[in-house]
Amino acid sequence: MNVVVLIKQVPDTTNVRIDRKTNNLVREGVPSVINPDCMHALELAAQLKEKHNATVYVITMGPPQAINALKDAISFGLDEAVLLSDRAFAGADTLATTYTLYKGIKKIEEKIGKIDIVLAGRQAADGDTGQVGPGVATRLGYSLAAYVTSIEKIEKDEIILTRRLDRGYEKVRVKIPCVLTVTPELNEPRYASLPNLIRSLRYQPIVWNKDDINADPKKAGFFGSPTRVVNTNIPPARKGGDIISKNESPEIAAQKLLDELKKFESIRLIEGLRVLVGDKK
Ligand SMILES: Cc1cc2nc3c(=O)[nH]c(=O)nc-3n(C[C@H](O)[C@H](O)[C@H](O)COP(=O)(O)OP(=O)(O)OC[C@H]3O[C@@H](n4cnc5c(N)ncnc54)[C@H](O)[C@@H]3O)c2cc1C
Repeated sequence: MNVVVLIKQVPDTTNVRIDRKTNNLVREGVPSVINPDCMHALELAAQLKEKHNATVYVITMGPPQAINALKDAISFGLDEAVLLSDRAFAGADTLATTYTLYKGIKKIEEKIGKIDIVLAGRQAADGDTGQVGPGVATRLGYSLAAYVTSIEKIEKDEIILTRRLDRGYEKVRVKIPCVLTVTPELNEPRYASLPNLIRSLRYQPIVWNKDDINADPKKAGFFGSPTRVVNTNIPPARKGGDIISKNESPEIAAQKLLDELKKFESIRLIEGLRVLVGDKK
């Protein structure tokens, strides 16, 4: 079984700043980590290696410093890690990102044979679109299961798993080859064993540029990106609500709370009636 894990390096902060000129994230000077959802993809890959003797490659598209994320990923006991890095890949939207990753996966296939399972995180903590896994599945022509929460069985040509829906869960059979995007519910990422930690510190990831993966510069990076970020806005801070003083007697406090709830309910009631009578105001 051959497995590729897609990981993304993201800023280790919730205080994300935007470059007002380019409308892109400011990454300089911000410490980076492996995207939290990708940690669960790495854990699943490590389990596939242990239980199914899988050969596992980790891959990321990013700047040279993304090498650190790949070295950390190797500490899960995985085989090889690949950095796709080239100026031609910069400024990519999700369409161009999936193109470059697809070309990288095809190159890995040349080395180890057909890839059976591609694992990705559900979404990235910074970009947050959740489009990369599905986009890579489309380019590869693989089946896709997004939002995977548990895996029941892996058979020769299919996987039985559970995925999260908006309201609830569904159990599905997914044909291999496939792409799975995973949620934190799936597993608990392990702590690295000492030998794996030492190997990861010494490990030098493979680095491929656009020529190595035979990428068309018109399909990668800025030039391959039909999306343009024209503006970004930070939503205004929410005002605090009214506070019922703790000095009020319980009866008065309860009455005030009830009055507030009634206001809320009546708004909901009016909204509901408007929907019923078809009033769009
Ligand atoms: C016009 C435009 C310009 C942009 N310019 C830049 C730029 O210059 N620099 C920049 O860093 N970003 C840039 N971005 C953002 C970049 O396109 C996205 O970060 C990227 O496509 C991934 O999307 P996402 O973050 O929403 O990932 P999601 O789809 O939310 O991520 C889900 C999963 O996909 C996988 N994944 C995502 N990204 C990667 C990756 N790079 N390598 C491997 N696996 C991955 C991971 O498993 C991740 O958990 C730009 C976006 C736009 C629209």
